[in-house]
Amino acid sequence: MPHNGCPHQCSFCNQKNITGQSYQPTKEDVKNILEKAVNDLGDKAQNAEIAFFGGSFTAIDRDYMITLIEAAKPYTKIFTGIRISTRPDYIDEEVLDILKKYNVTSIELGAQSMDNFVLKANNRGHNSDDVMRASRLIKSYGFSLGLQMMTGLYTSTYDKDIYTAKKFIELNPDTVRIYPTVIMKETELANLYLSGDFVPYTLEQSVDLCSKLILMFEKADIKIIRLGLHYSDSLVKNSLGNNYHPAFKELCENRIFYNSFIEKTNSVDKSKTFTVYINEKSLSKFYGQKKCNLNCFTEMGYTFEIKFDNTLEKYDLYIK
Ligand code: SF4
Repeated sequence: MPHNGCPHQCSFCNQKNITGQSYQPTKEDVKNILEKAVNDLGDKAQNAEIAFFGGSFTAIDRDYMITLIEAAKPYTKIFTGIRISTRPDYIDEEVLDILKKYNVTSIELGAQSMDNFVLKANNRGHNSDDVMRASRLIKSYGFSLGLQMMTGLYTSTYDKDIYTAKKFIELNPDTVRIYPTVIMKETELANLYLSGDFVPYTLEQSVDLCSKLILMFEKADIKIIRLGLHYSDSLVKNSLGNNYHPAFKELCENRIFYNSFIEKTNSVDKSKTFTVYINEKSLSKFYGQKKCNLNCFTEMGYTFEIKFDNTLEKYDLYIK
């Protein structure tokens, strides 16, 4: 969905650049896309969802919104359901009744931060109370709730981003998405960046923060369905600041193992060989991209062998 019907102008938003298009889909487009998806996916369609993403779905013209979900509804017999994303201040009983009627199953809220100062500084036009109210209402209707946060927004800090994650956990969403802030050209954030008023997190700071967020949500049993924006040529071409990485999640997972290894080997005698136990599926995460973790550990003077203990959770390790 393009930036359709949204009366706001969040500091970071240039919807045209994020979605790579400004075309407004019609009901025929929805039907054609879904027919093609059914053909392409075959049996796999029963495990896939229909999604209206990129704009504020419940903020668009009501008749147009209904036209789109009406076109998608017959396909909910084939797909698992319909997922939409919207703003927290465009959720009320009236719209939830409509979404229920058309077999929408999951609602994601662009909360972005739970710090009111950060929300205001980034022109979000809603506050953290809106997020809490909308989240509770969505859950009371039985929809799956998703919450989206942006780390490193203008005026945010490491502690404020951790605070947002804690408030999310209290709301107990089914899923979260975490988007480190990417500065899109032709946005207020770009102006702030170019004038020197906004200094974004470095990639290193973002990896450090988000590796901790992964562990927080993991511990709370909340699924992270996305960490970092999807790569697109348009995103790279239209962004500033050099802090976007296409394999961001992988970098964060590598960092989790790096930190854990350093913590657990704190009191290990480096002259002795020891064994690191991890889940077999975590081997590449433990090694790190281009074996960066492994090379670091070796350079630090550690000698160890790796063995598998598949009873371990994916980010756990222990040493013997
Ligand atoms: S509410 Fe969403 S679509 Fe509207 S300006 Fe903000 S980010 Fe863009």
